[in-house]
Amino acid sequence: MRKIVFQFLIFSTFGFAGCSSPTKQASVDCIPSSQVLEILKSTESAIDGMISQGQVISNSQKTILLSSTCHRRTYERAGYRIIMFRNPTSQERKIQASLMQPKVRELPAENCLNRALEDIQNLNLDFSQRLMQEHRFQYQWLWNDPDIGPVKWLQCNKKRDVSWYDSLAVFLHELSHEVRNNGCIFNSNNNSKICLELPQDLPLRSIAKIQDLTTLSSDRVEDLVWIQRLYLTDLDQPPLLLFDELQGYIITSKAYTATLTKLGAAALKNQKRLANYLPLFMLYSVRYLEELRNRSPAAFEENFGVCSKNYLSLNLLLRAQRMHTLIGFRQ
Ligand SMILES: [Zn+2]
Repeated sequence: MRKIVFQFLIFSTFGFAGCSSPTKQASVDCIPSSQVLEILKSTESAIDGMISQGQVISNSQKTILLSSTCHRRTYERAGYRIIMFRNPTSQERKIQASLMQPKVRELPAENCLNRALEDIQNLNLDFSQRLMQEHRFQYQWLWNDPDIGPVKWLQCNKKRDVSWYDSLAVFLHELSHEVRNNGCIFNSNNNSKICLELPQDLPLRSIAKIQDLTTLSSDRVEDLVWIQRLYLTDLDQPPLLLFDELQGYIITSKAYTATLTKLGAAALKNQKRLANYLPLFMLYSVRYLEELRNRSPAAFEENFGVCSKNYLSLNLLLRAQRMHTLIGFRQ
C-alpha cells in the first residue's frame, strides 16, 4: 500500500548563485551546493517522516553522498536514494529532487521501459499515449535516463505479474504529476488539460484534514492516519496539488481496472494490491472547498464560485455528481 507514496518527486525552484565547478557545461552552470543542501534538508525530513513513525534515524542510516557531477548529486539515506538534478539542456534554473527506494533490476532500464510501453499499449487505456507524448515533449532529455527517467517507477525485477502491472499504474500516475505545468493538470478523461488560476495566498491543502480519524471503526485506520499525515502534514502543499493528486488517482483507478481485465482472477489471487486512494482524494477535494467556503466565503466565491474564472475547470475536476451535491453547487 505504501509503495506509491514512497515514490514521489519533490520539485523546488530556487534562485541561482553561480558555480565554479571545473566540470561546468556550456548550456547551464552547475548546481550550486548551497541550494542542493537546502533541498536536501527538506528531502531528509520527508524520508524521516515516512520511515520513522516515532523511531530515531540511526547513524548508519544518515545521509551519504554517493556521487556528484555538475548537474546531478546522488545521496542515500536510510535505504532511500535522493537524486538532485537539473535539466542540463535548459537555461531554467530549477533544481529537482527525486526520492525513491533503490531498485533491484533484472531487466536493463531500456528493455524494462520498452516492455512497459508495450504492456501499457495492450492495456488499451485511452489517455496513456497522450500522457506519454506530453511527458516526452516536456522531458525528452530524461526519458531514457536509467536513474531519473520514467523507468524509475517500474518494478523491473518483476515478471508480468500483478506487481509489474501495479508499477505500470504508478508509472502513469507519476507521469501525470510530472506533466503538470503552469497551473494546468493533465485530464485523463478527455486527454486535455484542466487549468486553474489560483492565488498563492489560498490556504494549503491541509485545511481538508479530517481532524479525528481514530473514531472510524476500520482496520485501515492506522494507514489512513499515516496517509493523511504524509499528504496533508509532512507534504502540505497548495490546493492545485491536491486536485492534481485527485487526477493522479483517477489514472490509478483506470490502470487497475484495465489490469483486472487483462489478468482476470489472477490479479486478485493471493496478491496484496496497492491501495487506491481515489475515494480519499475525492473526499479531501470536497473538504478543501467546503472548508475554504467556511473560512473565507469571499475567497471561495472569487476562486471557485459560479462566476469565477475557475468554475468551468472545477466542474471538470469534480465530475462526480455526488461531489457537486456535497459542496452544494448551484448549476
Ligand atoms: Zn500522486
